[in-house]
Amino acid sequence: MEHIKTIVKSGVQRFTLMFMITLLFASNSFAQKPKLIVGIVVDQMRVDYLTRYESKFGEGGFKKLMKGGYFNKNANFNYVPTYTGPGHASIFTGSVPRINGIIANDWYDKKTGKSIYCTQDETVNTLGSDSKAGKMSPRNMLTTTIGDELRLATNMQAKVIGISQKDRASILPAGHTANAAYWYDGTNGAFITSTFYMKQLPTWVDDFNAKKLAEKYLAQDWITLLPLASYTESLADDNAYEGLFKGETKPVFPHKLPELKEKNKGLNMIRATPYGNSLTKDFAIEAIKNEQLGADAITDFFSVSFSSTDYVGHQYGINAIETEDTYLRLDKDLEELINYLEKNIGKENVLIFLTADHGGAHNAAYLQDLKIPAGFVNEKMIEDSMKAHLKQMFGDTLVMSYSNQQFFLNHKTLSKNKLKLKEITMEAARYALQLEGVSNAYSVYDIVAASQSNDVALSRIYMGFNDVRSGDIVLNYLPAYVDYAKTGTTHGAAYTYDTHVPLLWYGWKINQGASYEPINISDIAPTIASFLDISFPNGCVGKPIGGLVK
Ligand code: ZN
Ligand code: ZN
Ligand code: ZN
Repeated sequence: MEHIKTIVKSGVQRFTLMFMITLLFASNSFAQKPKLIVGIVVDQMRVDYLTRYESKFGEGGFKKLMKGGYFNKNANFNYVPTYTGPGHASIFTGSVPRINGIIANDWYDKKTGKSIYCTQDETVNTLGSDSKAGKMSPRNMLTTTIGDELRLATNMQAKVIGISQKDRASILPAGHTANAAYWYDGTNGAFITSTFYMKQLPTWVDDFNAKKLAEKYLAQDWITLLPLASYTESLADDNAYEGLFKGETKPVFPHKLPELKEKNKGLNMIRATPYGNSLTKDFAIEAIKNEQLGADAITDFFSVSFSSTDYVGHQYGINAIETEDTYLRLDKDLEELINYLEKNIGKENVLIFLTADHGGAHNAAYLQDLKIPAGFVNEKMIEDSMKAHLKQMFGDTLVMSYSNQQFFLNHKTLSKNKLKLKEITMEAARYALQLEGVSNAYSVYDIVAASQSNDVALSRIYMGFNDVRSGDIVLNYLPAYVDYAKTGTTHGAAYTYDTHVPLLWYGWKINQGASYEPINISDIAPTIASFLDISFPNGCVGKPIGGLVK
């Protein structure tokens, strides 16, 4: 009897064990790693757009990511300047300009005395048009991206591709070892690349370009998606804070694109309309399909950055019906992209994240009219005033450039005149505080000593300050002070309106949920690396975000 019991018991135990092993194998083989990671960047997207426009969004776009996935509601950039180049570099390198070297979109190059563009590369050539728009590569970025680490970890078997209308928004995310990066050339309305990546464009790209979709999109007027009167989240269509297309007298719908096109840079005009995003979505789906991304067990990485939100934001500001309509139309484009991924690769096999490269400020004149402190700075006057002051004090022209809120001094002149950099930069920082709109001014000596600073502005300047590439004195303006036109808006500051952006995760093993836990945008790349069990990008300063996966 005892003997039979033992057999039964051990039989049950064995069965239980077998069952557990089966489960373990099942869960292991079931999407252990995502087959495809899709990083979506929405250029100039403030986090509050998600809730502000929520009642107008459909169920399959932004809302699907918000409700069906995980929403990090307190995600910020931790450096300045909050521009497109640095933003895209930080998302995908898990790093900051201090380390990855992308200190702005353009900066004063100390070696040549000329302005340098973040992705310019004279050693490569354009593929896909006759223009110079393809003389671009990621060479100025000093660190690896998450895509580079995925390529290294898989012996180059993973595919990594980046696309956007903007060159810097496709090149920097994809990284140095990417299979391809494609961006839009308004001279011929095509998606192009550079010889950095390949010798000739793939046939599917030529075929896509031959469809001339940019021309087709621009053959229609831009009207609102919903009845105009229903856009109650935004100011009246005609208001003083919105910019104009050339040839228009009022910033109102319908925007007659076919008539306006020639006066507004031809096919480049699509950038400043929601159709630029639709074209990007069309190209993204073609890329995923033709490059067979996510088709095998080796994880692939795809980034797509939607730029039209930024061009529209700059022209109309953040309270315009034009801006709201651009987001409602992007919501539809996202729905199409997400549907394509779910249907063809499967939700459980695709990990999607969505974020932005920076936010955007309220129009300063609008805030002033509402009695909120705000204002305009004149950077030309700041530069001239500083030049004159230092010349009067020290007898020579010391300022070479004022750009990205940084003064670059002429170090040769300093040595020639036996002037001490510390003394000059301290004097310049003290003087700058008298200038209209300036909140803080730091000498390079303050900045390099600031690694542990609790001063928010100074710590963000430190993270954005590359010792080799950056200037000698850095200014921080007052909140809501901008060097910009009276219409539209801009970004670049250390304040929350420019640093606070959405971060949504969806698909694969992502939990449903939300968190107000503060996280830095540089945490995204190491989070993905931890999902894939691969190395963090080599300049990574972030840490994996908890609570995202089952
Ligand atoms: Zn941007
Ligand atoms: Zn308007
Ligand atoms: Zn911008």
